[in-house]
Amino acid sequence: MQLLIRPKPKVDESLESYILRLSIDNCFESYQYFSDALWQWLMEFDHEAAGALPRKLSLLNVYHADRTSSLRVRAFQLVQKLTDNEEFHLLNLAITNSNIKYAQGLTAVLHQGVAIPRCFLRIDATPICPECLEESLYVRHNWHIAHYTACHHHKCELLHKCPECNESLNYQRTESFTVCICGFDLRNAPIKPASKTNLVLSRIIAGDLIESASPLLSISDLSIRFGLILWYLRHQKYKTSEFVEHGFLHNVVPAISYFDNWPHGLHHELDVLVNSAELKLVQTFNKTGFSTIFGDLILSCQNIPVREIQHNFILNTVTDYLVELVRLNPKGKQANIADLLLSVMEVSILLNTSHDQVYRLYQEGYLALSFKPKLHNKLSRHQPAFYLRQVIELREAKMHSFNTISQHYLPAW
Ligand SMILES: [Zn+2]
Ligand SMILES: [Zn+2]
Repeated sequence: MQLLIRPKPKVDESLESYILRLSIDNCFESYQYFSDALWQWLMEFDHEAAGALPRKLSLLNVYHADRTSSLRVRAFQLVQKLTDNEEFHLLNLAITNSNIKYAQGLTAVLHQGVAIPRCFLRIDATPICPECLEESLYVRHNWHIAHYTACHHHKCELLHKCPECNESLNYQRTESFTVCICGFDLRNAPIKPASKTNLVLSRIIAGDLIESASPLLSISDLSIRFGLILWYLRHQKYKTSEFVEHGFLHNVVPAISYFDNWPHGLHHELDVLVNSAELKLVQTFNKTGFSTIFGDLILSCQNIPVREIQHNFILNTVTDYLVELVRLNPKGKQANIADLLLSVMEVSILLNTSHDQVYRLYQEGYLALSFKPKLHNKLSRHQPAFYLRQVIELREAKMHSFNTISQHYLPAW
């Protein structure tokens, strides 16, 4: 097979958009015909790779393949030969799976080295910018991300529905960049200026550097920006204890002012939790898990994801708050909030060390267990076991002496 027209992929284009352009430019009647032709061509070289390329455009991207993603990568490497684009790898457009996990098992996908929460990808529809399409006919990768709602180039709101028939826009279903199923040319749609907050949010997602005191705006690492937005959304969901599947993902605009006022918002929330802690107690503080009062506060700030833990400013803010909490609540006859119990997982995050090191610190007597362990039973990683006070004291005593990426308190066995 030879493709007569071999358009160049755009650096900000989605993979589905480029494959659809190949299909349209080479006059295939539909993507189905193009994928049939691709499949037959691939079969000649590598039948395994051919089998890994789906016939549906919406399932084409690499992250949709779970166990067969390496085969799909092979398939795209072969397809690249048809496109004559030696200098630009087709896989640069792809979204791939990753082993990066956020709190509570939420996963990340990777696009050009940036970790994006998988739940941020739009599934059913893809809004468009009429002005961008007028300039160049392809779909921008950013349009696939849920919180990108305004075009940061043209400063207008993205168009989600056809102004003529009100149908949600989905180029993968209609196999057209410009024409809705009703025949309306989307380039002629009226344009609405973007609201200030939507524009800022889109600029955050697009990776624009914005001079600001807000960590969300000033951090240049896009993976961390996405991680902060997800952390914020999960944090708000926990606070209001509302649970709607994926519903919590929508209200992201307040994140901007939350990080503008960083860390005052978080301090205020933690103060409220501390002041109402006694109401939640069933047993005394020294028999109560930290999570009973603070939820997954510590666990949730572990995976922002920041490569070097000392740059995780959310974790640093939480730790500083807990250090101050212990200082303000000295040990007394009666247990107080500084005597809450941490699990092995929480301790390992606060001490920036491995789970094994936490077990080792316990066995060497640096950390005391809050209960008598059963013989031959290994302590579960989730069980509240160690006193917050002791962990913070150990951290303060040991941490300031060295500043490595991961703390190693004791030699391994
Ligand atoms: Zn635009
Ligand atoms: Zn329409």
